[in-house]
Amino acid sequence: MMRSYGEVVLSGTILLGEDLEPFEGHLTFRNGVVAEIGTEEVASDLQGIIAPALVNAHVHLGDSFLKDPPYLPLRDLVGPGGLKHRALASTPRREVVEGMRGSLLYMARSGTSAFADFREGGADGVEMLLEAMEGTGIVGRIMGRPDPGSVHLHKDCWGIGISSTKDHPWSWVEEVVEAARSEGKKVALHAGESDRDDIEEALSLSPDLLVHLTRAEPRDLRMVAEAGIPVVVCPRSNLVTGVGLPDVAKMLEMGITVGLGTDNVMLNSPNLFSEMEFLSKALVHNDRQVFMMCTLNGAQILGVEEVAGAIRVGKKGRIIVIDRRSENMAGSKDPLASLVRRAAPSDVLAVI
Ligand SMILES: [Zn+2]
Repeated sequence: MMRSYGEVVLSGTILLGEDLEPFEGHLTFRNGVVAEIGTEEVASDLQGIIAPALVNAHVHLGDSFLKDPPYLPLRDLVGPGGLKHRALASTPRREVVEGMRGSLLYMARSGTSAFADFREGGADGVEMLLEAMEGTGIVGRIMGRPDPGSVHLHKDCWGIGISSTKDHPWSWVEEVVEAARSEGKKVALHAGESDRDDIEEALSLSPDLLVHLTRAEPRDLRMVAEAGIPVVVCPRSNLVTGVGLPDVAKMLEMGITVGLGTDNVMLNSPNLFSEMEFLSKALVHNDRQVFMMCTLNGAQILGVEEVAGAIRVGKKGRIIVIDRRSENMAGSKDPLASLVRRAAPSDVLAVI
C-alpha cells in the first residue's frame, strides 16, 4: 500500500460513531483527519483499541501542589477559609503553576484531550493556568472568577465557575452571573454536593452546567432534566469528602446529559480511567454509558467535539489507542468493558 507523509494507520477494534459500536478494521489518519475506515488487510503502525479521546469535565488543577491532605469534612477542606484556600494564599505562584503543569502533562499523556477547570484567584489565577497549559496541546475550558470588587472575567475564561451559592452573598452571585452572561460567558456551579439546599437557587440562575448533585432527590433531578441542564459528576471526590454518591443511574434514566470529572487534584489523581472504573463498578453497570460520559457527553457539554467527539470519516483529532496486549489488558474478551473497567494510563499507546 502506498503511504503518504503525514499518514498514520491504526488497526484493531475501533469504537465507532455516536454509539461507540466496536468495529474490527483499520483507520487511516491523514494530515490530522480520519481519512478512511475499512476492513481490508493493511500494514498498520499501531494496533489496539481505538477510541475517542477523554474529556475531564470538572477539575480543580490549582491545588495540585497540595496532594492528599488529611480526611476532613468538605467545608474544612475546600470551603471559604478552609485548608485549600489557606494553602493557596501562602504558596509561591511558581509552585502552584508547576503543580498545574504536572497535572496537565499527566492528563495529556493519559488520553485526556480537554478539560474544564474551576479556577480561583481572579484574573491572575487564569493567567497562571494559561501559563501551565502552554505547549501541552490540551484544550482547557476555564471557569474563572472575577477579581474582588469587579464583576468581569478574564477574557480567556469560557465562563464563571461558582462553588455553592451558599458560599457567597446571593446579591454577588446574581451580579456576577448577569455580568458573565452579558459578556457571552457560560455559567457553572457546584450544587447539591453536601446537601440539597442550594439546588433550587442554582437552577434559578439557568446555568449551563451543574457539578455534583450528590444529594439531589428525584424531584430535584426532574427539574434539572426538564430544564435540559447537563450535570458533571465526580464520584471519587464525593467519597473522599464523605458526602455520599450521586444517583447517576437515575440521572441517565431521566435523560440528563451526564459528564465525568475528577474534581480537586489534591483529593484525586486527574485520571479518568480510575474514575470510569469506580463509576462503572459502584454505580453504572453499563460500559457504553460510562465511556460515553467521559468522551462524547463531555465533549458536548464543553463544546469540544473537535478534539474529542465521535470517530467517523472526516473527523479531526484526537483519538487514543489502548494496548490490548499489555499485561493488564491481555485476555480481554470485550474491548469496551475492559477499557472502562480495567484500563490504566499505562495502557495508552498513543494519543493522535
Ligand atoms: Zn469541584
